Amino acid sequence: MRTVYVAEYPAIQHRHDNGDIVTVRLKRRAGGFRVTCQGCSTEFIYRKPAPSAISHFKSPILPPIKGNWDSGDDDH
Ligand SMILES: [Zn+2]
Repeated sequence: MRTVYVAEYPAIQHRHDNGDIVTVRLKRRAGGFRVTCQGCSTEFIYRKPAPSAISHFKSPILPPIKGNWDSGDDDH
């Protein structure tokens, strides 16, 4: 069986040899999220994207703006 690591969640779209675009949904398992597609015998395992090398912190001198900050509250 093939194993593919994906950074998307929860729906994984992939193409079968016959051209079909198939969507499978990751399920919570011990050790993480994964799903096996019976159609192509591929196991998809969710792997959180590597964190950015650049830290994104709120600036103390700029007015607060809505943004995508690394505040640790976006764990999903
Ligand atoms: Zn498949």
